[in-house]
Formats: sequence, C-alpha cells, structure tokens
Amino acid sequence: MMEKILAKAVGGERLTMQEGLDLLQSSDLPRLGHAADAVARRLHPEDYRTYNIDRNINYTNVCTAVCDFCAFFRKPKSADGYVLPRDVLLTKIEETKRLGGNQILLQGGLHPEFKLDWYEDLLRDIKHRFPQLNVHGFSPPEIHHFTKLNRLPLRTVLERLRAAGLGSIPGGGAEILVDRVRREITRGKCLSDDWLNVMRVWHELGGVSSATMMFGHVETLAERIEHLERLRRLQDETAGFTAFIGWTFQPDHTDLAHIPKASPFEYLKTQAVARLYLDNFRNVQSSWVTQGLKIGQLALLFGANDMGSLMIEENVVAEAGTVHYLTLDEIRNAIGELGYRPRQRDVFYKLVDDQTERFAIEANRSGPNGAGTMPDLELAG
Ligand code: SF4
Repeated sequence: MMEKILAKAVGGERLTMQEGLDLLQSSDLPRLGHAADAVARRLHPEDYRTYNIDRNINYTNVCTAVCDFCAFFRKPKSADGYVLPRDVLLTKIEETKRLGGNQILLQGGLHPEFKLDWYEDLLRDIKHRFPQLNVHGFSPPEIHHFTKLNRLPLRTVLERLRAAGLGSIPGGGAEILVDRVRREITRGKCLSDDWLNVMRVWHELGGVSSATMMFGHVETLAERIEHLERLRRLQDETAGFTAFIGWTFQPDHTDLAHIPKASPFEYLKTQAVARLYLDNFRNVQSSWVTQGLKIGQLALLFGANDMGSLMIEENVVAEAGTVHYLTLDEIRNAIGELGYRPRQRDVFYKLVDDQTERFAIEANRSGPNGAGTMPDLELAG
C-alpha cells in the first residue's frame, strides 16, 4: 500500500489527502525519506544545494494578538515592549549589506497604533538608502491587521506597500491553516481564509511569497494534511509560492510548555511527506535552526533542496529558547559533506554566487555572536 503511494509521488502523480495521511501515519522513515529525496532530485538534478543570506529584523514586539506558542510578543503598554528606532533599524541593514546580505526579513507584532503610512514611510526610507535590497516583509497576519486598523481593502494595502518598496512576503503566521487549530492557540489573529487571501491577492498583483507550517502542537495528522492541501490548492491557482518551510513548535517559555517537543523523527517524516504532497512547490527549505545542524543537514536527504537563510538574528525563536548558531562555513560544509556544491541564492532562488566568497570571509570573522547561519524561520506575526 505504502509502496504504491510512494511510487505515485516519485513518478510525479498527485497524492490524495487520504494518501498523504497514510504516509504521515506510517513510521517507515527511511522509505519516506528515500522517496522524498527522489522527488527533490527529479526537481533539482543540479550538483548543488543552496542557502540564502539575510537578516531578520523584528521592528516591534508589541502585539495586540495572543498566540500561546509565542514567547516574543508583549502586550501594548508593557514595560518590555519596544519599537526599533529608525536609525537602529537602518544601521542593522547597513551591517547586513556590509556582510554581503541582499535581503531583510522585516516582521513584527500587530501594533495597535501604527497606520499604513508609518509602514510606507519605513519602506521608502529603507529603499531610498538601500535601493538594491529586497524587503521580504510583513506576514499575512500583519497585513490583515493593517487592513482592519486602516479600514482599507486588502488590495489597496498591498498595492500601497508594494509601491513603497515591499519586495516579497514571508509565509509566517500560518502555523496550521485549520481554524479549529488557530482558534485553540491564537486570539486576535487572522484565520485560515484571511491568511490565504493575503497571499492570493499578493500573487495576483505579481508578487511572490514563501509558505510555512509550524507543527507538533495541538493539531492532528489529518490537520497537517489539510494545511498542505490548502497551500497546494492556492499554488495551483497562483503559482506564487517560491518555497515551503516546515518547522516544529518550540514549547520552551511559552504557554504551551507542557507539550513535549516534536522529535527529529517527526520533523523529518513531516518534511518528507510535505515534499511528496506539495507537487507544485519547487523548493523546500531545511529548518535546522529548530533541529540543529545534523538533523538540518539530514533534511537535505529528506526532500529539502535548500538550507535556508543565513540570519543575523531571530528574536522569536531566541525567545523560545531554541537557537542554533552556525557560521557560513559550517552551513557550506554541511552541504558539501553530502556531495553537493554549496551555492548562495536570493529570495527568488536566483543564484548570486559572485558575492559568496567575499561574504564567507566576513561572516566567519563575525562568529556566533555576530553573523550566524539560520533558516528562514519567519515566526513572528
Ligand atoms: S506570533 Fe505574531 S501575532 Fe502571535 S503573539 Fe507573536 S508576534 Fe503576535
């Protein structure tokens, strides 16, 4: 039975939801990994695997929503709440650029006061100073929040952000795109249809984005498949997702700390099934920041074709207590040990190797307290 389903996926045939669920319920990890690797190699016969260089900037931790899995946010008026001063934010970008980064991941909490012109002004400032930099910013819950706060149609908000310099949208805040799950673990945050609709309209405007899944909390295996199904359907409609990134919920210091951390077995199995199920996604990223280097490396044999982003900070994961820092050399070596050439890409998966060597020297000088290599986690918002 399982052999038949795997052969179907390896041959490029689409799996049904029941078949996806059958795979998730199996515990034959080697066979799942073998099949996911075969699909990854069919889609990426190249002799290299990729990584990206960017910086995660969380412009504020003030948030009107409450997500039980989030140790990062602070309620409005909290003494620990912050909004990054503009000069600090621009200095962070300057550092990123100096280190060879070509993108920032700009995300924050759902701030109760800032109107759309505050974000437009921020984007214009950034693009004025750094015209070549891609701003990968504002996950769907943030954008949905902007529409509510400004009483503006979604399309208008996205058009205005794009005109001000927004380049692409991160897939953060998806968690599990099933409302039963979202209602159980989040309050004051958009539900599944709204998340998908932000992406739909952004793609219709010609934009691209990533897609994510945070699993291993209150969802069932069938709900994981429902999540993948909703992504696959939207990708059929728009083809606007560049990549899928899955990671396991990090319970430490959250209101869901009683939930045991999902095992590497669960992580690799789910990623392999995602690769087999998402037949219209070209790229799958390893999430080694939550798994550590060795499992993150193994993920490249379980369907991933990309090691994610070199990030200088990742506040959301850091708050939850799980941060794995690596140098660029370690990431490149992890790819090399599997027999692939490590190559740098941008957010659009275009190779940008000419910058690699210069950055490698600088990044490894910076060490673990400066530039660490972290995947494109996009947890905030
Ligand atoms: S995950 Fe995002 S929306 Fe939820 S509480 Fe944290 S910052 Fe707010």
